[in-house]
Amino acid sequence: MANQDFPLIFEHSQESRTGFSLPEMDVPEVDLTDMFDESYIRETEADLPEVSELQIMRHYTALSTRNHGVDSGFYPLGSCTMKYNPKVNEDIARLTGFSHIHPYQAEETVQGALELMYDLQTILAEITGMHTVTLQPAAGAHGEWTGLMMIRAFHEANGDFGRTKVIVPDSAHGTNPASATVAGFEAVTVKSDDRGLVDLEDLKRVVGEDTAALMLTNPNTLGLFEEHILEMAEIIHDAGGKLYYDGANLNAILGYARPGDMGFDVVHLNLHKTFTGPHGGGGPGSGPVGVTEEFAAYLPKPVLIKRGEQFGFDYDRPKSIGRVKPYYGNFGINVRAYTYIRTMGAEGLKKVSEYAVLNANYMMRRLEKEYDLPFNQHCKHEFVLSGKSQKKLGVRTLDIAKRLLDFGYHPPTIYFPLNVEEALMVEPTETESKETLDAFVDAMIQISNEAKEDPEIVQEAPHTTVVSRMDETTAARKPVLRYNKDS
Ligand SMILES: *Cc1c(COP(=O)(O)O)cnc(C)c1O
Repeated sequence: MANQDFPLIFEHSQESRTGFSLPEMDVPEVDLTDMFDESYIRETEADLPEVSELQIMRHYTALSTRNHGVDSGFYPLGSCTMKYNPKVNEDIARLTGFSHIHPYQAEETVQGALELMYDLQTILAEITGMHTVTLQPAAGAHGEWTGLMMIRAFHEANGDFGRTKVIVPDSAHGTNPASATVAGFEAVTVKSDDRGLVDLEDLKRVVGEDTAALMLTNPNTLGLFEEHILEMAEIIHDAGGKLYYDGANLNAILGYARPGDMGFDVVHLNLHKTFTGPHGGGGPGSGPVGVTEEFAAYLPKPVLIKRGEQFGFDYDRPKSIGRVKPYYGNFGINVRAYTYIRTMGAEGLKKVSEYAVLNANYMMRRLEKEYDLPFNQHCKHEFVLSGKSQKKLGVRTLDIAKRLLDFGYHPPTIYFPLNVEEALMVEPTETESKETLDAFVDAMIQISNEAKEDPEIVQEAPHTTVVSRMDETTAARKPVLRYNKDS
């Protein structure tokens, strides 16, 4: 799609055209060789395009819109909760009292910021039904690792050194087995049954005296609520293990169900998903961890506490697993999450879950007429389709995902979870209108029809993007980052 307003700045370069003006030099010129080793000094001038300020402005503005974001279009990337991030969050996070403070400032000079963090901890503890929350971890996976290190410290404090295994369902998020491994445990898989839920018989088979914990993603990555949580909690606790709740996506249960009430000992949340921290592009995130009273002593230090009317950090925590992040967490994301929670209120948060679940079920029921639905049950905030019928026509799920780009949509998560052939995992979120949901479903139906009548158009998609299909492996491993790859 050639764009007139997108100047190819190298091609448009004109000798001596400048986009800046500098005053006459009024200081002595410096000899660079006095300052640097000669090997660092370039011999020829950099071959930079010579363009006007307007041209360079258009260039960067055009580049800034080349990426797809929630603010530019529908983004139903399952498990990632790409919901709208309210802009009032940004206004509040930019207040100088929050944005211009320094982590080394004396506590009495940042009482407002500490109070916000303390209140957020308290609110998140209430939402999850846990005793205490730490805001230190910087992301979901980091929260998982932090929680598992606390579980490890707990078992070791009890002289229970043989608990080396963490049980992870095959429908868990991929970070779960990874975090268990990084925390020094062996990840053991428990299978799902034919309804897509944890198979209790298989759980009984793998649990034992070597079980440190069960890590449960709920709703699981099929978008299904694990119906037998109370039985699972009993099985694990009876064996002396602990229960870890992956609450990265709390979008389906806010105000309706709390991990603490289900028997979980440790839970993490992703503020950059459920609580509207902007994400994508690698951060920053925030993955607070909530624990029961039994685990409070192991929380990362320093722990933010209230002494009378003053907020401050408690470093005197002999059983703490230590610091897991410099300073106190990603404060800016905490401010955004706090703003979101306060603007929504308790009733608003319940509505979030109602609409997230309604939207997902609405789309699922419209799409099941055209795509295979491997687990035909009410879903929570997301659902998983299979493109196996389309595959028989020569159109793979990857092709469908690429074709969606031509309609201006970010594709759903594909080929995950692994227990569904040609999986397409769709998470609409509560912030989209019915018109948007319908338009996306219509595009999916059109693509399925194309697969039957004109498969090439899908196989060769995308047709409207700046670059078409890339070699996915070399694009990631050996990206060409130069404008002119031969220079
Ligand atoms: C996103 C996600 C994670 C990982 O969170 P990051 O912030 O990306 O590390 C873990 N579990 C589930 C269920 C998730 O959706």
